[in-house]
Order: sequence, then C-alpha cells, then structure tokens
Amino acid sequence: MRRLYEPDAYDASRWPDSHWAATVPPPAADAPLVGAARAEVAVIGAGITGLSVALALAERGASVAVLEAAAPGWGASGRAGGFACVGSAALDEAALARRFGEGETRAFLRFQEAAVAAVEAALDRYRIAADRGPDGEACLAHRPGALPALAERAAIRARLGAARARVLRRDELAEAGLAGPQFHGGVLGPVGFALHPLKYSLGLATAARAAGVRLHAASPVTALAPDGGGWRLTTPGGSLQARHAVVATNGYAAEDLPDWLAGRTLPALSSILVTRPLTPAERAAQGFTAATMAYDSRRLLHYFRHLPCGRFLFGTRGGLSAAAAAQARMAARVRTEFEALFPAWAGAATERVWSGLVCLTGSLTPFAGPVPGAPGLWAAFGWHGNGIAPGTRAGARLGAEIAGDAPALPGLMRRPPACFPLPRLRRLLLALAYAGARLADGRLRRSPAR
Ligand SMILES: Cc1cc2nc3c(=O)[nH]c(=O)nc-3n(C[C@H](O)[C@H](O)[C@H](O)COP(=O)(O)OP(=O)(O)OC[C@H]3O[C@@H](n4cnc5c(N)ncnc54)[C@H](O)[C@@H]3O)c2cc1C
Repeated sequence: MRRLYEPDAYDASRWPDSHWAATVPPPAADAPLVGAARAEVAVIGAGITGLSVALALAERGASVAVLEAAAPGWGASGRAGGFACVGSAALDEAALARRFGEGETRAFLRFQEAAVAAVEAALDRYRIAADRGPDGEACLAHRPGALPALAERAAIRARLGAARARVLRRDELAEAGLAGPQFHGGVLGPVGFALHPLKYSLGLATAARAAGVRLHAASPVTALAPDGGGWRLTTPGGSLQARHAVVATNGYAAEDLPDWLAGRTLPALSSILVTRPLTPAERAAQGFTAATMAYDSRRLLHYFRHLPCGRFLFGTRGGLSAAAAAQARMAARVRTEFEALFPAWAGAATERVWSGLVCLTGSLTPFAGPVPGAPGLWAAFGWHGNGIAPGTRAGARLGAEIAGDAPALPGLMRRPPACFPLPRLRRLLLALAYAGARLADGRLRRSPAR
C-alpha cells in the first residue's frame, strides 16, 4: 500500500491519546477476517462513513462485511472535534455557484443541513448517548476587516436557501458568551451541534452489529481486485469476495486502493488539545462562556468549544508531518495558539493532545458515488475536515443506492474529483499553501489576559 505520510500516521496498533478514547469504556473487540468469506457488499473502513454505508445496506436486507485496518472509530471519526455541522467543501458558496451553477450549489447546501439532521436522527434511532451539545455554530472574525466578508457569505448562503445566520458586532459577542480579545464580531448560524465523536462512532458500530453487519477489526485490506463479476479483497488473514465494494478510507486511504484514487486526495493533519476543567470563574474571566461550537475566520482556522465536563477543546490545522518529533512541535504550536486566543486560560494545562488525518480532494469538493470504469466499486470521501455530518448522510445515501434506491446526492458530489496537479509534490504544495495562508491570516500575537 502506498501512502502519503510517515508510517506513524497509520500505526493501527496504537490508539491516539485522545480525550475521547480516555472517556469511553473499552470498545467491543471485533474478530479479524480469517479464511475465505463472501458478502454481497464489502466496505473498507469503519469510520462514520463506512459504518453508515453498512447500516443502510444491512437495514435493507443485504449481507455486509466491513474490513477495518484498526478498529471502528480509530481513524478521523473517533478523533474529531465533534462538530456535527455544515461544511465539507473547500470552496465557498460564491465559488461553488460559479463552478457548478446555483442549482447545484443550492442542492449541496440542502444536503449539508440534511446531513446534520441525519446525525440527529441516527442518535435517536440507534439510541446513541453521545453528549449532544446545544444547536448552533459561530464563525468569529479574526480581524475587524473579516466581519463584512463573513456577513456577505452568510447573506449569499441565505439567498441560496440555507438557514439564516445572525451577524454579531464585536460589542454583541459578550452577551452571546463568545467574546475574546481577538474576536471582532461573527456570524451565528442555527444549524449544527457538537457531540462526542468516538461515542457516536462506536454507537454506529453497535447498531451495525445489531443489524447483522459483520465487522472485522485488525483487517487491513492489502489488495482489491475484480473477481468473477465482483471484487476480491485481501487481508493478511483472509479474503472476502463481494458483488460490491465500497472504499470509505478518507484521509487514511492508500494511493493504490484502488489505483483510481492515486493523486486525487490530499490527506492533511488536524490537531486538537483538551485542557483541564476550567472553573466558572475562569470561564467568566475570558468572556467566552457559551457552549456553542465556534471557529475563527482564518484560512488556517482554529476550532474550539467547551466540553460538557468543563474542559476546553481547541483545534487547528497546519501540521506537515506525522513523525513523532514533528508531532511534538505541532503540539507546542497548538498550545501557543490556544494561549494567544484565550490568554486568560494560559494557566489551564493541556491534558491531552492528538492529531489525525482529514481528506482534501483535487476538486475541493467531496465525492460519493460509483468509481468510473469499475462496475460494483464505490467510494465516499473528501469531507475537507468536516465529515461527521456529511459522512453520515452520504454514507447512508450511498448504501441505499447500492441496495437499489435511486441516487439521491447533489450532482457536485457525484463528479469524480480531479487529480491534484503534480501529485508527487502534494505535501510540498500543502506546505506552500499553509505558508500563504499564514501570511494572509497575519501574525497571531498573544493578547494581554484582560
Ligand atoms: C483532529 C481532527 C478533528 C476533526 N474535527 C472535526 C469536526 O469537529 N467535525 C467534523 O465534521 N469533522 C471533523 N474532522 C474530520 C472528520 O473526523 C472526518 O471527515 C470523518 O471522520 C471521516 O470519516 P470517514 O469514515 O470517512 O473516515 P475515517 O474516520 O478516517 O475512517 C477511515 C477508516 O478507514 C480505515 N482504513 C484505511 N485504509 C484501510 C485499509 N486498507 N483496510 C481497512 N481499513 C482501512 C482506517 O483505519 C479508518 O478507521 C476532524 C478530523 C480530525 C483528524
């Protein structure tokens, strides 16, 4: 298997030292695939997407096996910030409308809001207790000049049919519990809520087992080849023959599984720290008291929220290497940026810090559909760092389609992503893009605590 990052990123023998892994009981252990097996549908990857595909199929009576290199939720799904929110393309709505037209952009916006509702429905239907937070998501202007652009984007989104967001001036942030020395106003949208992403992922796995899905952990697929009108998937311990195969490996994908994927995706690191619990006085001292999930308007954005246990979660992108030394440097950077944005909490030690891989595509839009030229092969990936809701919805829609329902995803998600230019140089391209983003964002300086 050819992959883009250092082996540390894919070491399935270790769970990340995340707040999420530390706050769930040890998950059920699924047996690896051993010997020769058959299924109607084989799914590669037991993240939110793969599990949603499998559930939709099993509930329609199909026989489904999921092969997971590590264990359900081990990938990005069990490491995320837990924002079940709109998003999932790296283009804003004006750019989407220019490229795909208004109709497709409207359909994509509808999909995104329906995707958040799909997470809510999954929590209810499978009785998953995943620490659901309050509704709403704020985007905070990182400098005064950023607010008009945020307001304009919110207006464009509303014109295209999305739920209306409220524009908050800087002096209105405190009342909303969203104040900070480096926030200069923002927009507060009503759609989205936070959850414990590993509880959600494990809940989907439990539901999938109950629906009859065969889940196999410690079963990395090492080869995928056409076989007798279907597909043969090979793992170190066995092989699985299936009429259909679904690739749901997102940021953890191998370049050659299948070869069609080569150069079409760019995995990128996202990193999170969680502090010790903050006292109510500490929360008040910073002015950022709301449980609303939030992010800032930087290109290299920060995302953050209070957890129900009182701890604070703070994440950012920008890491370039999964090697241990680089990860240690990245952890220090996340901390510096956290203290710059939330100086009143500089004394709140980091309890845990971890990272994982998200997935960008060469078209900057997500994909869920048939792999061209490969009958029976399907894929769903490219959530651009926002996969909890779209992975749920697109996975379920794709599962239904494989079971015989009509395709029901926005047209722009059905277009196979383009390859990146100069695919061998993708990591260099990313480093240059980050350098450009940092320049555009301006230097992040630490503010006085009060
Ligand atoms: C630090 C971080 C913070 C994030 N925060 C958020 C957030 O707040 N909100 C949000 O919506 N999104 C967030 N994301 C992104 C989100 O987690 C992902 O978009 C989403 O979880 C993708 O789900 P998935 O099922 O498609 O892929 P994953 O969850 O990554 O699952 C892919 C699985 O495929 C398996 N796999 C790979 N290759 C093979 C193989 N050959 N054989 C068998 N199995 C294989 C992997 O082991 C992995 O478990 C974050 C991601 C990270 C890393």
